[in-house]
Amino acid sequence: MTRYDISRSELAELLEGEPSYRIGQVWEGLHGQHREPSELTNIPKALRSTIEELLPAALTPVREVTSDNGKTIKQLWQLGDGYLLESVLMHYRDRSTVCVSSQAGCAMACSFCATGQIGFDRHLTVGEIVEQVVRSAQNSKDKRLSNVVFMGMGEPLANFDNVWSAVERIHRDLGISARKITVSTVGVIPGIERLTHQALPVSLAVSLHSANDETRNQLAPVNRTYPLRKLFEALQSYKRSKNRRISLEWAMMAGVNDTELAGRELAEFARPLNAHVNLIPLNPTPGYENPGTDQESIVWFQQILESFGVNATVRANRGTDIDAACGQLRAEHRVKVTKRRKP
Ligand code: SAH
Repeated sequence: MTRYDISRSELAELLEGEPSYRIGQVWEGLHGQHREPSELTNIPKALRSTIEELLPAALTPVREVTSDNGKTIKQLWQLGDGYLLESVLMHYRDRSTVCVSSQAGCAMACSFCATGQIGFDRHLTVGEIVEQVVRSAQNSKDKRLSNVVFMGMGEPLANFDNVWSAVERIHRDLGISARKITVSTVGVIPGIERLTHQALPVSLAVSLHSANDETRNQLAPVNRTYPLRKLFEALQSYKRSKNRRISLEWAMMAGVNDTELAGRELAEFARPLNAHVNLIPLNPTPGYENPGTDQESIVWFQQILESFGVNATVRANRGTDIDAACGQLRAEHRVKVTKRRKP
């Protein structure tokens, strides 16, 4: 059991014999205050060592790279069984956001995505997800970590149970508001349906990239299983029941999804949902040759969307120089997997 995989009642069992206020101190210290066991100075030293021993950290730092004048910090972590994952901390004027991974690798095989090109290793546990947020909060220092986005490696809705338990922890124990937690999906409909029935009002982002089935089948093969019409319907019922704005992610690829026709198709999808579109400059990856759309054409495309009545924002491209697009740092870094978990 790793440090953040344990529940509060399991912690109480583990520290049997300790008064209940102590359990509270440990829990609050590890979660709300993002402390290392050695920093829990309000509890006896022997107990700090016990916790350190019984509840080891799940993530070992492998590499850290910084860009954008220190405002983007990308971390590569190794898990207990050798697999690798990434998280990225981004400081903005008004907020600090961590982009977390939900899986080691990804099975969705999106052609332009570095993680998709690597393939799937395994789901992350609740603790492995929560610990990425805690470590980033520690790293954030005087800037309070305010937002969490599930836009790192993996498909969060394909690991729904663990992701959702992590979301609840991040909200309840780390104190990050549910609205500031964004779950991003390539369009796994059963997961969207489950999300529709959850009480916590997290934000939903859908990585659409094309509103044309033929093109989308190429970019995101999961579209063959969950085609656009069905995705649209799932999003419509999500919207009806939650009354929350959905955002659509659109990585811009020259000649693929940046034409006027592509804009029209996108507008037809987005407008009835009153969705907001984020236009993302494509990060080049080794397995996808098609170039990204240039900055000028991205702005042109944004205007096309506006003229069709769709609000769109051009996303600043953070950390391109440090391969901060998901999976890229890891793709560069070959660490041998020492121990494979049995399937
Ligand atoms: N599987 C989830 C979350 C991980 S991807 C999802 O698909 O939403 C996080 C975001 O980064 C997605 O919007 C994804 O499409 C985008 N992305 C992946 N590869 C990219 C690339 N090479 N350039 C720009 N954005 C990319």
